Amino acid sequence: MKFPGPTYRFCATCYTLKRQDSEYFGGLREQVLERDGYACRVCGDPDPGVHHRVPGKSVLHLMIALCAGCHAKVHRTKVVLTEFPPLLLKLWREQHPTGHEQTYIDFNVRKPAAQPVRLFTEDGEIRG
Ligand SMILES: [Zn+2]
Ligand SMILES: [Zn+2]
Repeated sequence: MKFPGPTYRFCATCYTLKRQDSEYFGGLREQVLERDGYACRVCGDPDPGVHHRVPGKSVLHLMIALCAGCHAKVHRTKVVLTEFPPLLLKLWREQHPTGHEQTYIDFNVRKPAAQPVRLFTEDGEIRG
């Protein structure tokens, strides 16, 4: 089941015109999938589709393999962006340039900072 429900919105660019596949994708669909290893670039799902980063532009470097789930997230306007991997966040911003993603950031959720392993003291001398 790849389309979990009506809450998932897809862009006209990527889905409504799907019937015109070969023409619409400029013959690049296979190239995109091959370049991306037939896997979603965000989560590695082995059955991705192709997303247009710039609607209507069928240019190889502006197309990216995304699974239905990640693709839906890119096109949804209400999302929990803190759960997004960096690439997904970037793609989302491309589709929602006026989105106020900071609204959804929960500042209470913080991972503990990694402790750097010190090999040298402040003045550069080896300890011990
Ligand atoms: Zn995915
Ligand atoms: Zn899309």
